[in-house]
Parts: sequence; structure tokens; C-alpha cells
Amino acid sequence: MTPKTILTVSVTEAGRAVARRLPFEHVHGDAAATIAGRWADVDAFVLVLAVGAAVRMIAPLLTDKEQDPAVVCVDDAGRYAVAVLGGHGAGANDLAHQVAAVTGAEPVVTTASDRLGVPALDQLPGFVASGDVAPASRALLDGSPVAIDNHLGWPLPELLTGATPAGATPAGQRRPTIRITDASEPRQAGTAVLHPPTLVVGVGTSTGATPDDLAQLVTAAIAGAGLATASVGMVATIDRRRTHRAVVSLGWPIEAFAAPELAEVAVPHPSDAVRQAVGSPSVAEAAALLAAGPGSTLVVPKQASGAATVAIARRARPRGRLHVVGLGPGGAEHRTPAAAAAVRHAEVVVGYSAYVDQCADLIGPQQHVVRSPLGAELDRAQMALEAAADGKQVALVCSGDPGIYAMASPVLELAGRPDLAAVQVVVVPGVTASLAAAAVLGAPLGHDHAVISLSDLLTPWEVVGARVEAVAAADLVAVFYNPRSERRQWQLPRAMEILAKQRPRSTPVGLVTDAGRVGTRHQLTTIHELDPEEVTMTTCLVVGASTTVVRRGRMVTPRGYPL
Ligand code: SAH
Repeated sequence: MTPKTILTVSVTEAGRAVARRLPFEHVHGDAAATIAGRWADVDAFVLVLAVGAAVRMIAPLLTDKEQDPAVVCVDDAGRYAVAVLGGHGAGANDLAHQVAAVTGAEPVVTTASDRLGVPALDQLPGFVASGDVAPASRALLDGSPVAIDNHLGWPLPELLTGATPAGATPAGQRRPTIRITDASEPRQAGTAVLHPPTLVVGVGTSTGATPDDLAQLVTAAIAGAGLATASVGMVATIDRRRTHRAVVSLGWPIEAFAAPELAEVAVPHPSDAVRQAVGSPSVAEAAALLAAGPGSTLVVPKQASGAATVAIARRARPRGRLHVVGLGPGGAEHRTPAAAAAVRHAEVVVGYSAYVDQCADLIGPQQHVVRSPLGAELDRAQMALEAAADGKQVALVCSGDPGIYAMASPVLELAGRPDLAAVQVVVVPGVTASLAAAAVLGAPLGHDHAVISLSDLLTPWEVVGARVEAVAAADLVAVFYNPRSERRQWQLPRAMEILAKQRPRSTPVGLVTDAGRVGTRHQLTTIHELDPEEVTMTTCLVVGASTTVVRRGRMVTPRGYPL
């Protein structure tokens, strides 16, 4: 979990510079008063302060784990990001990683389970924890017995299926219990509650329904059935209401269906009036059941207020989700926090071996890792989708951006298959090679440019060559991916010949190999002097347009300002 409202506070000038690099609201000076004044209304503080000073300031403000915000401290040289308070529950551990990724600091996380590489109970992907979590967490860490009550038969991660279910408990002591449930339960000493995302709230609204109308109806339906809001995984409705503000403001992911799809679902309370109005005899019940998938049951039949209807379904098995993740060109400093979170929270991480290595720092002992060979892209896409169809949370990792000559397109093409229809695919963008290379070279992409892959494995050379011709004629800056490999040698010189017909031979060309990785190197040359031997499988090549110049060793394509 990453906190939402985050405030950075700095006191020294050096600290101010560190704070400014963070994408959060920032207050400089008077730390004690700022922290006290904002304690109740932010989810997290990033304090660019010594830990000792921070501890003295926050000590009088502390209430309990449920209410206190997360606190991360960063020294004013930006070397360390320390999760001080609210490591798991309030998200300080994740925030420390996020701050570290942006500033280049080392994340310092000291909570026991992170230290031992075991995921904490309140960090388990796919569950929201509540109740008395500490005793069961400690028992899991120690390998001592815990009782697991999984009356829903919900699939559990290995951490729990491998837990010692019974055994000797010191006389007089109750075994800590973990209850997996979507019911709302009063806190009970010794019982940790894990809420899985079993519930789908189906809604229908009139055009004029307000967010309050719908929220009240939904809240009452959940509470009336004794269910836990934390177990609601999504809201489902008819497609014309997908963007209705009352539906959107519920705050859950939305799944919407066309009227004919809804009309196919057998429901307990069909209505002729609704059929005439929208083309399906049911919206709330049908949408809830359809989104909850095969084997689901209606736990709250249709309830209506003047303006809206609600029904709640319980799914029989988890909805699998596949994140297709762009890791950026190399190091963690160019990896987005969203990419890191998607990998960290996955149950299964799939990728070409080198890309799995690229995010090894994010992978924990509970995660299943599938390394796949280069070239086996379709198998990789299919395997990742099938694992997600099986109800797993899967991260398929790619270098750069997953949508650029990578896995997002084959995944989404395959995801159209009927047996994979239940899988939700989320694409997490990354810094692509052209941007990483351009930054090293200067500003070669400052004006219009085109990106071409010189690989003719999947695209015939006639097509590739014709596109290079078109780029040459249009005087665009040209970026080449896959410029050369052991088996593909002649394509690069051929592309350069095509460009040389339209551009001076002195046109600048930049080569960047292994941008952002160990052993990165770059070179500035010209169309005339380019030595193909310098170009490898991991080189990104940027060929200037007629306007591109070199200024003090940097390649620049002017925007056109009158300088
Ligand atoms: N999805 C990737 C591209 C994969 S195609 C992305 O968005 O970056 C593979 C090609 O990308 C390589 O042949 C090379 O041209 C380029 N490339 C990938 N990573 C690179 C890096 N770190 N430095 C330079 N070029 C890179």
C-alpha cells in the first residue's frame, strides 16, 4: 500500500533541495509546528530530518497503528530513506522504496518480516488485513502453529497454506487465528482477519442520481448484510453508466457490460420496466453476477432507492490480473514506483531472464518466478495470461516500455481468447530506450521524430525499408531499435544508405548501448562515419534530421526558438 496524501517537510537548505526532487506537497521550515498541524490530515510524512529530531517531534502526536500517518525520514544528503513509522499498515515501507527510487537514496526498512524476507500478513497481495494481526504474524515468522479458518475456500498464498495448522501450543495459550472472510467482524484478541476481494457491487442509477444517493444505498446494502467494505473488489454496471459520476465516485474499479450481455444473465428479480428502459431486465443483479464470474452467488439481492439499485455478488474464485510491466532501461532510478509496486505485489513474476534479474531487488521469497528464454515471447505471453486466468496476480516484466516492441501487444491480442476473457490486463508504462538514449545524447528528440525497428524477423524488409524511405523524405529524426545482431548485419548499412540519399553525410548520429545499465557507453558520430561494428543488440541509434546540430558534445534538435 502506498499512502495517498503525502507531505514533505525540510528544514535545512540541503534538505530543501532533496525535498524538491520528490513529487509531493512540500513545506520548508518550522517542522515541529507543520507536523503537529498536519498530523491528522495527511496519510504520510517524508521528513528530511535526522531520525532523532523526527522522533522527538512525532512522539507527542502518536495515537495508534490504525490512525497514525506513515513517517519516512531522509537525511539531508539524500543518502537514506528510513521507514520510521507505519511500515506495513500505513505504507511507510513502500513509501521509503518510492522515495529511494526517486532520490537515489538507500531504502532502510526494519520491520521484522521484511528483514527476514517473509511478506507480512498485512502486506499479502490480494488481501486487506484487519483485527489483531500481530500474534498471527509473529507465529508465522517463528514457524509456530496458527489456526486458519478459510470457510470461503479462497485460494491462499503459500505463506498460509504452508503454515503449521496445529500442534503443541504452550498450556493456557490460545493459538493465534487467521480468518479469511468477507464478513465484517468485531475485533477479537488473537484473531487476524484477512478480507479477500470476493464481493462485486452491482449498481444501476437514474441519470440524475447523485454520488450521495448511490453511496448511501451501497453502504447500507453492505452493512445490512454484515459484509466488509474491504472485501469489495469492484463495482459493475451497464456500459452507459460507466462514467456516471455517482458510479465513479464510489472509488472502486468499474466493470461495465452492454445491455444484451446483461439480458442473458438469469436473475431473481427481473423487471419489465427496466427491460423497456435499457434493454435488459436487470442491471444491478445481472452486472454483479456477470462481473463476479462463473460459480458466483448473489449475496444481496436487488435493493432500490428512488434513484438507484444495488445488488452484491460473491465470486467463487479470485479474478486474475496481469500487469505487463515496463522496468525502464536498466537501473532502479529509472523505474517508476508503479512498476516497482506491480512487481512487488505479484504472486507470479514472469519474464525473460535478464529482465527478471533487472528487478531482482523487488522479488521476495513468496513469489513464484518463471524465467523464459529470449525469443519465446508468445509462450511467455500465453503462460502469463493462463496463470492470471487461474486467479493469480501476475507481473510480466519487460525492459523499457512494455508497449514498445515488447509484450503488451501480444498479451492483449491473445487476451481476446474466450478462456482468457476474465483476466484483467493492466499495462504499466516504463522509460523506453529511445528516451533513455536521447537523455544521454542531449536533446535529439526535441522536434518531430519517428521510431523504427530494423528487425525483419516479423516485418518483411520491404516494409521496413519503405518506412525508412518515408522517414528520410519527411526529414524526421529517426530512432532505430533492434539495429543489428549476430544474424542481422546488412539492415543497418542499408538504412543508412537510404537516409544518406536525403541528408548530408555529416548529419549527427548518436549511439547509446546499454543505457542505464552496467557498462553503458555512447558515441556521437555521423551518417558517413558510423561504424556498424560499434552497434550491438542493445544499442539504440538516433539519426538527426537536417536541423539537428551538435553543441558542446550534445546532440540537439532545435524546437525553433529564435536564439
Ligand atoms: N521494450 C523495449 C524495447 C525492446 S526492443 C523499450 O521500450 O526500450 C529491443 C531494442 O531496444 C534493442 O535492440 C535496443 O535497440 C533497444 N534497447 C533496449 N534497452 C536498451 C538500453 N538499455 N540501451 C539502449 N538500447 C536499448
